[in-house]
Amino acid sequence: MAKQEDVFKTIVAHAKEYGFVFQSSEIYDGLSAVYDYGQNGVELKNNIKRYWWEAMTMLHDNIVGIDSAIFMHPSVWKASGHVDAFNDPLIDNRDSKKRYRADVLIEDEIGKMEEKINKEVAKAAKRFGDSFDESMFRQTNPRVLDYQRKRDELHARFAKAMEDNDLVDLKQIILDYGIVCPVSGTRNWTDVRQFNLMFKTEMGSTADGAMDVYLRPETAQGIFVNYLNVQKTGRMRLPFGIAQIGKAFRNEIVARQFIFRMREFEQMEMQFFVRPGDELKYFDFWRQTRMRWHKALGLGDDKYRFHDHEKLAHYANAATDIEFKMPFGFKEVEGIHSRTNFDLAQHEKFSGKKIQYFDPELNESYVPYVIETSIGVDRMFLTVLCSAYDEQQLEGGDSRVVLRFPAALAPVKCAVLPLVKKDGLPEKAREIQHRLRFDFTCHYDEKDSIGKRYRREDAIGTPYCITVDHQTLEDGTVTMRHRDSMEQQRLSVDEVERILKEEVSLNSLLKKLL
Ligand code: ATP
Repeated sequence: MAKQEDVFKTIVAHAKEYGFVFQSSEIYDGLSAVYDYGQNGVELKNNIKRYWWEAMTMLHDNIVGIDSAIFMHPSVWKASGHVDAFNDPLIDNRDSKKRYRADVLIEDEIGKMEEKINKEVAKAAKRFGDSFDESMFRQTNPRVLDYQRKRDELHARFAKAMEDNDLVDLKQIILDYGIVCPVSGTRNWTDVRQFNLMFKTEMGSTADGAMDVYLRPETAQGIFVNYLNVQKTGRMRLPFGIAQIGKAFRNEIVARQFIFRMREFEQMEMQFFVRPGDELKYFDFWRQTRMRWHKALGLGDDKYRFHDHEKLAHYANAATDIEFKMPFGFKEVEGIHSRTNFDLAQHEKFSGKKIQYFDPELNESYVPYVIETSIGVDRMFLTVLCSAYDEQQLEGGDSRVVLRFPAALAPVKCAVLPLVKKDGLPEKAREIQHRLRFDFTCHYDEKDSIGKRYRREDAIGTPYCITVDHQTLEDGTVTMRHRDSMEQQRLSVDEVERILKEEVSLNSLLKKLL
């Protein structure tokens, strides 16, 4: 475990050192859980967004995009339930003055119990070797059964307290199970309080006329309130979807794990409107379609899993998360929810406007049902970064750090490098760069030895380095070095261009989805 944590720290440090992610306002010691993307980070992020956007809007005839404002009428958040229910239960430790989410403290305790069970199983597996029957062991070993019973008891009590919004019992659970503050080590806890995660500000110039507005905590509501606009002006027929990428803001109580949980982040959301009764069919369709999108990146099929929700939000009738194996465990990257007609019906109620669809086949009007796919750009960025990072031992005791990004997502696609800074090689290299830069983000670098330049490109994940040497002046050929294998090929610039077009284009990735 400690090793994985170290790996994560190294990745975070690498992300800063190579211009991917910086802490916001760093010269003022930073702003907690807010980050800026640097020169390489912004390219990677834009490529991720483009992959999602094009997969949604270009590969589906019936999905269109919008870009709605961050500020919305305050009634939107009343209707959506965010003003009353977008809360986390928080608790403070009086000694350390640290604030925690009560539900996370209890979930961590459940996690520890599960860890104990897994340790027993691992110990027994080692002892019994090939003859070990894990499921039999789990069902019969008295110690495992005892841990399991305690875990299930705690889980059931916790689920009930959350369901009933019983803040008193949440605190009592923390006391009964002797959960201590990880910083002070004490049980000196305050009561549990609800904390609304929305940021509030004022709109309007005079104090009297000012109106409280919120920074949106999700982009989805901007889609719902534009449902009629898009449906009418685009003459859309059900089923159809509206996609949007944009910033969202949540005043997270505990912001940890780098860009995994931020206070300002970006979402890519798509709401798919369907005929009532068809929602579970389309829920299943989107569950599979979204998983295919993730797996097409080739980060490793075993790194993904679905986590189907047992406890559903009051408006949902099916929900699943796509989880990715981060260095700190399997974590949610994307949520897929069947939201029924809850949101549109609420907006109908609060706005007094009819928000319906006239179905010509059924000859009737109804409020459409909705399947939502919602993925965080920053979490997706983190999955790509974590799975790309590799420290490779080379022959001769040398080593290199390489980011093995899927080529289509790499911030820089190729680097053109003159072997030496004389004899007309820089001029020739510039000529090649000028030719390639219209199609590809293309570096030019002439400083330091060629080996050092290769390492610099490896460290930011550039898939191809193109080296210009004296032979280039004679026959126009260059060497093309592949980032992952480090193999080099002698090729004409035409061939280089052809390979680049094939290998680094988003098209090749998108074609895997059909
Ligand atoms: P979590 O349980 O981790 O708080 P959530 O279930 O509240 O997430 P949703 O409301 O379903 O998340 O949001 C959809 C997606 O937005 C998430 O899958 C995640 O990728 C992203 N996301 C949500 N909150 C944050 C955050 N604070 N920082 C970065 N990304 C986030």
